[in-house]
Formats: sequence, structure tokens, C-alpha cells
Amino acid sequence: MIEAPNKFCRLTTIEEEEQEVIYIKRSPSLIKAQKKYYEKNKAKITAKQTEYNNKYTKLTHECECGDVISNAAKYHHIRSKRHARRIENIKNGKLPSALKSEEKVNCECGGHYIFKHRHQHLKTKKHTDFILHQQQNLRKQLSNLNGSQAELIVNNSVEVKEI
Ligand SMILES: [Zn+2]
Ligand SMILES: [Zn+2]
Repeated sequence: MIEAPNKFCRLTTIEEEEQEVIYIKRSPSLIKAQKKYYEKNKAKITAKQTEYNNKYTKLTHECECGDVISNAAKYHHIRSKRHARRIENIKNGKLPSALKSEEKVNCECGGHYIFKHRHQHLKTKKHTDFILHQQQNLRKQLSNLNGSQAELIVNNSVEVKEI
């Protein structure tokens, strides 16, 4: 293809024109003959189609998320939370089946925990000691900065009161 100055006047090469599909216009007599054939074999054709449909819906295929699903379930699967989660996991280089709740987290306190057990971890001595130590450090740094005693209330937000 040759780049044209605007997208509406695309220049085609000879090769491209040769690849064009040729549509055969059905003649009225052919349409009639096909209709006649269909009417005559209606029951057979319908049965064949039903058989095909039944087989088709039971056919399984592997989704891009790694799940093996039947064609019948495909429509719902693609829109499911499970599919979305698996795709997200693959994108992040994790196992498709990885669950956020089962994720191992390395805590800043040096410990580690499983995401669903995070509340228990946050109450452990190791973690609370670490937070306390961090707060003390912060207080020291601030008092050095201010050159006076600073009172800290650390509760998600930091509030500094000068004495
Ligand atoms: Zn999927
Ligand atoms: Zn911790």
C-alpha cells in the first residue's frame, strides 16, 4: 500500500486489487433451486443443524486465561470476575489462579503475612514494636528539626504540636 495524503484516498497496488474477493451474484433460478432443495430436505437440514448446535455448545476450548470452558459457557465466562482476575494475574506475571487473599506480603517490619491474615499480623508484637520504633524515630527527627520538644500523635495522620 502506498501512503496517501489522507486516509480517505487510499491508493491500492495491483497486488491488493488481485486479492479482492469476487462475489458471485446468485441468479433467480439458482435461488429458486436452492429454496426447493431446502423445502424438500427441511427436516434433514434442521436435524443436522440441531445436531451441530448440540455438539458445538458442548465443545470446549481453552480461554486466554487458561480456563477450559464449553462454548455454551463462553459468553458468561468472558464477562466473569474470575476471567478478569485471571487475565490480570497473567498480566502481572502471577499464576492465573492466584488470589489476592492468598498473596504473600513482605511487611516493612521485616515480617511477612498472607493478605487475608493481615489484620492478625498488624496486631503482632513484631509489627507493633516496629511501628512504635518508627514513631519514636520520627519524633526524634522532628524535635531535632524544630529544636524544641514536639508532641506527636500518630494515628494514620501526623499532627505536630509545638510546646
Ligand atoms: Zn477466561
Ligand atoms: Zn509487619
